[in-house]
Amino acid sequence: MMSSPESSNVRLRRALETAGYRFTEQRAAVYRFLCGTASHPSADEVFQQVRAQVPGISLATVYKSLETLVNCGLAAKLTYGDGSARYDGRTDPHHHARCVSCDRVMDAPGRIPDQDLDTLGQGLDGFFLVGYRLELTGFCENCRPLEEDGSSAGAMN
Ligand SMILES: [Zn+2]
Ligand SMILES: [Zn+2]
Repeated sequence: MMSSPESSNVRLRRALETAGYRFTEQRAAVYRFLCGTASHPSADEVFQQVRAQVPGISLATVYKSLETLVNCGLAAKLTYGDGSARYDGRTDPHHHARCVSCDRVMDAPGRIPDQDLDTLGQGLDGFFLVGYRLELTGFCENCRPLEEDGSSAGAMN
């Protein structure tokens, strides 16, 4: 799934220039990092990783680069009710599972047929539907509470 830096640069340059942006090393570094991780990082997490490769890059530049990638359709932005945002190098339609304890975000492997999702909006008078978002919430494997009866812990022994 991971493409080489050369082909990712070509794809990035084409998409940026089509949308009226310039190709820059900073944008390329942010894009490469985002495409190589499944962790759905925040802007700050991207900054922490990318500044090791691009000395002198600022959080503001990382943030603007991420927004540029989203505007070009090269990345997706997941926003939450508390104003926080996470970025995703995957732009194909998929849903997410989020750990309510550590905020880890994972791609959900499953799909719900579009016609099933359409039924959710049926009977909503006057609502012009343009999309939907679906998020699974729960505990990741690191945060999952231990079960009282030990049935799942016992399987590990
Ligand atoms: Zn967790
Ligand atoms: Zn994702």
